[in-house]
Amino acid sequence: MLASEIRSRFLAYFERQHHVIRPSSPLVPGDDPTLLFTNAGMVQFKRVFLGLEESPFGKRATTSQKCVRAGGKHNDLEQVGHTARHHTFFEMLGNFSFGDYFKREAIRFAWEFITEELKIPKEHLRVTVYHEDDEARQLWKDVADVPENRIYGLGARDNFWQMADTGPCGPCTEIYVDLAHMAKDWAFPADATGEWTRTDLTDFSLDAFVEGAEAGRFLEIWNLVFMQFDRQPDGEMRPLPAPSVDTGAGLERIAAVMQGVSNNFHADLFAPLIAAVESTVGISYPYRPGVGVGTAHDAHGKVIDPASFRVLADHARATAFLLADGVFPANDGRGYVLRRILRRGVRHAWLLGRREPTLVHVVQAVIDTMGDFFPELRARSKHIVDTTRAEEVRFLATIDAGMTRFEELAPIGSTQGSTAIRGTVSGQDVFTLYDTYGFPIDLTELMARERGYLVDIAGFEAALQVQRSQSQEDRKSRKLGVSADVLADFSTWQTEPATLAQAQFVGYELLETMTNVAAIRALDDGRTALILRDAPFYAESGGQVSDRGHVAGQGWSLEVEDVRKIDGRVAVIGTATGHVSFGTVRATVPASVRRDIERNHTATHLLHAALRQVLGEHVHQAGSLVSTDRLRFDFTHHGPVTPRQRAEIESIVNREIWSGTPVATRIMAHADAIADGATALFNEKYGDTVRVVGIGEFSKELCGGTHVRNTAEIGVFVFVHETGVAAGVRRVEALTARSAFAHFRAREALLLESAELLKSPVDTMPKKVQALLDERRMLEKRVADAIKGGGGGLGDLIAGATTVGGMKVASGEVTGIPDMKALLALGDVLREKLGSGVGVLAARFEDGKAAMVVTVTDDIRARGIGADALIKSLAAIGGGRGGGKPHMAQAGLPGADAIAPVLAAVSDAVIALVPA
Ligand code: ATP
Ligand code: MG
Repeated sequence: MLASEIRSRFLAYFERQHHVIRPSSPLVPGDDPTLLFTNAGMVQFKRVFLGLEESPFGKRATTSQKCVRAGGKHNDLEQVGHTARHHTFFEMLGNFSFGDYFKREAIRFAWEFITEELKIPKEHLRVTVYHEDDEARQLWKDVADVPENRIYGLGARDNFWQMADTGPCGPCTEIYVDLAHMAKDWAFPADATGEWTRTDLTDFSLDAFVEGAEAGRFLEIWNLVFMQFDRQPDGEMRPLPAPSVDTGAGLERIAAVMQGVSNNFHADLFAPLIAAVESTVGISYPYRPGVGVGTAHDAHGKVIDPASFRVLADHARATAFLLADGVFPANDGRGYVLRRILRRGVRHAWLLGRREPTLVHVVQAVIDTMGDFFPELRARSKHIVDTTRAEEVRFLATIDAGMTRFEELAPIGSTQGSTAIRGTVSGQDVFTLYDTYGFPIDLTELMARERGYLVDIAGFEAALQVQRSQSQEDRKSRKLGVSADVLADFSTWQTEPATLAQAQFVGYELLETMTNVAAIRALDDGRTALILRDAPFYAESGGQVSDRGHVAGQGWSLEVEDVRKIDGRVAVIGTATGHVSFGTVRATVPASVRRDIERNHTATHLLHAALRQVLGEHVHQAGSLVSTDRLRFDFTHHGPVTPRQRAEIESIVNREIWSGTPVATRIMAHADAIADGATALFNEKYGDTVRVVGIGEFSKELCGGTHVRNTAEIGVFVFVHETGVAAGVRRVEALTARSAFAHFRAREALLLESAELLKSPVDTMPKKVQALLDERRMLEKRVADAIKGGGGGLGDLIAGATTVGGMKVASGEVTGIPDMKALLALGDVLREKLGSGVGVLAARFEDGKAAMVVTVTDDIRARGIGADALIKSLAAIGGGRGGGKPHMAQAGLPGADAIAPVLAAVSDAVIALVPA
C-alpha cells in the first residue's frame, strides 16, 4: 500500500468515526515563539488542549501533520540516515479528542485501523503502556484482545507525556510492529545475539523487547497520549475534568511496514528521491529489494557510505518544506536550523564526490513527487529551488578549503576503526571552521566524532562570544550616551515618587503637553536626564528613531538629544540651560520632525506588505530604520530585486498612499492578533496584549511605533537604493514626502545642469546624448584607422623626431586621414605621445584638399612657443591660412604640393619663435 493511500485511509477512517479532517498547519507554529517547529500533530490544537480556546469544529479532529524534528526539544538530526526510522521532516497522522472520548475508544480506533483497515497481522504487534496505567493495560486486553505478555510497562521517560512543567499531562501507550516478521529484507546485525534476535519466539521478556526496539526490530508506529491530569506548580496531579486524547503515527514508518521493508527510506515516498540522488551523483544506491544495502564505490573506486544517499533524500524534504513554509536560511533561530540541514546535505554530496549543487536536484524531485498533495511546494517551487541552489553554491565555495583544514586538524590516524579518542579539535579551530569556512558547529562535531575526535565546544562558544561582544562594543562605542543600566538605578535620581508612579508615554496622541517633572538626574557628561509624568517623546524602538524636542520649565529649558526607555518609563537626556527643577513644564516634539518619522514608519509597513506580495511570503523583516529623512528596510530574500519588481513594489505602495486609507491601531490579545493575520517578527518577544497597526486590509503588523492617521499623509514614496547586506538579506532604502520631493528636485537640478552643458532642451537630451555618443564612436574609429593607416604612423614620426633648441620636434605627413576633424584628433594623440615637444602633422584628405595641424605640449607653451604662432609662419610658407590656440592650431593648404616645403621649414620656424 502506497503512503498516499495510507494517509487518505487514515483520514477517512477517522472521519467515519466522526472526526473533522483538519489541514496540516505550517511547520512554523503561528503563535508559539517557544517552539522552533511544529513537531507533532497536537501543536495546532495546543490552545484547545490547554482550555484557552474552544475548538471551533467540535470535539474530534484528525490530521496528517507536517512535522520537523531537527532542533529544539525534539531533535532527530543526528539519527537521520543512520537509523531506519528517523527523518528530519515527516508526516504524523493523528486523531484528537478534546474532552470527548478517552482511553477505551482511542485504543479501539487505533487497533481497528491497524488490524482491519491495514490488515497488519495481530501476532506481529506489541504494545507498551505506562507501568502505572493499569486501566490502559486492561483495555488492551478487553478491547483488542492483546495477550498480557505482549503488553510492556515502561517508565515515565518513555510513556508519560507532559506539555510543560505544569499543565496537561498523562500516560501514553505505544504500538510496535515486529519487523523481523513484517519486512522481507529484515536482517539482524552481524554481531547480534540474545533473546531479541530469536525469530522462533512469540513472547519476549521486557529487556529483550526494549533491546529489540532500540535495535529497530520492534518499530514504534503509533503513540497514543492520554491527557488525564493537570500538574500543579506544587507537583500535585489534579485530574482534568474532561480528559483528552492526542495520538501520533508516523506515515513513513507505517508505509515501510505495509511495503515489507525494514527501512523507511526504502519505501515508496523515498524511492524517487534516492533515484534523484543516484542520477545526480552518477552512483547507484546499493540497495536490492528483499536483500538489503550493500557497499558502494565512487568514481575512483573509493568506498562510500550509502547513508549519504538517505541523508540527502531526507534533507531535501526538510529543505523543500521549510522553505515552502517561509523559513529562510540564516545565522540564527529557525533559519539556522535550515542552513545546517542544507550544509549537511552539501557535505554528504561532497562525500559522494560532488563539487556542484546537488541537493537542489533532489529538492526538485520532492516538489515533483509531493507537490500534488502539498500545493505550497508547487506554489513556491521557484523560490525553493533558487534558494537551495544559492545556499549550496555559497557553501561549496568554502567547503573544499574547510575540508582540507579539517583534515589537518583531525587526521585519520593509522588506528582506523578503533573507538579510542584521538584528540580534541580546539575551540579556536572550530570557530575558524565556522567563521571562515561556514561549517556549522554541529557539522564539525559530527565529522570529528566520525574520526574519533572531540570538539572543544566551550572554547568555541567562548570564541563566538568574543566575536559577538567585539561587534557589540563596536556598536556601543559608536553610540554616544549613557548606558541604560546606569540610568535604571533610581537611587541616583532625585524623584517625586507620586508623579513618577504615573509616568507614561503620551506620544501616540500628543506632540505637546503641559506636565510635571517626575525625576531629575545630573549626568557625568554635564547633561541632564529627566522623567516626565506625561512624555510625548518616543524612545527608539522597532527601528523608529527617538524623537527630538524640548522641555521648558520655569526659568530653565532642556534640548532633548536622546530618549531612553527605563523600566517602561521614558527618560529624556539633553543639555539644559538654567537651573532644572521640579514643577510644571511644557514638553514639545516639533511636529515637523515627528510627522516625517511617522510617514516613514507607515511607509515601511506598506513596503513590507508590498514586498511580500511581489517577492513572496518568504520575505520577512530582518531589521529596519525609520528616521526623519529616510527609511531603511532589511528583509530575507536571495538575489537582487529586479528593476521591474522595484517598479511594481513602488507603484503598489504609492497606490495605497493615494487611496487615502485610514490607519487604525488596536490593542488586543496577542493570540487574537495572530489569528487575525497580523505579521509579527520572528524571534521577537511580545507580551500578552499587543498593539496592532492596520492599514485597511493591506497590512496588519504588531508594532509599537507611531504612524500617520491616513496613508495620504505620506504623499509619495520612492525607492532610492537596493542592495545585499548579508547572505540572503537585502536592503531597501526609500524616501517619502519631503525627502522624496527633495530627491526629485536634486535629480532635476542635475538634469537641468546636463541640459545646459549639452545645450539641449531636457526633452531632447537623450537624443542629443545619443548623437554625441555616436559621433564619439565614429571619431574613435577614425583615429584608430588613422593610427593604423597613417603612413609611417605616429610611432615612426615620434621616433624620427629631431631636437631643435632643446625641444623635441616631430613632423611629417600622415596618410589615410579623411578630414580635418580626424587630423585634429590625431594631433591630440600626438601631443599626448610626445609628452614634451612640438608636433606638426600634414595630410591630404580624401577630397584632395591638404591641411596641417600644429600641437605644442604645455611645458613648451610655457617657454613661449605657441601653436598659433607657429602655424602662422608655416601657413605663410605654404601659401595657406591658419589659426588656433597655443596648444593646437590648424591651417588649410592650397594643395598637396605645399606640404613638402612646409615640413622642410619646420625647424627654422620653431627656432625663430624661441625667445632670445
Ligand atoms: P522514536 O523513539 O522512534 O524516536 P518518538 O517516541 O520520538 O519515536 P513520538 O514523539 O511518540 O515518537 O511521535 C509519534 C510518532 O511519530 C512515532 O510513533 C513515530 O511513528 C513518528 N515519529 C517520531 N519521530 C519521527 C521521526 N524523526 N521520523 C519519522 N517518524 C517519527
Ligand atoms: Mg524520538
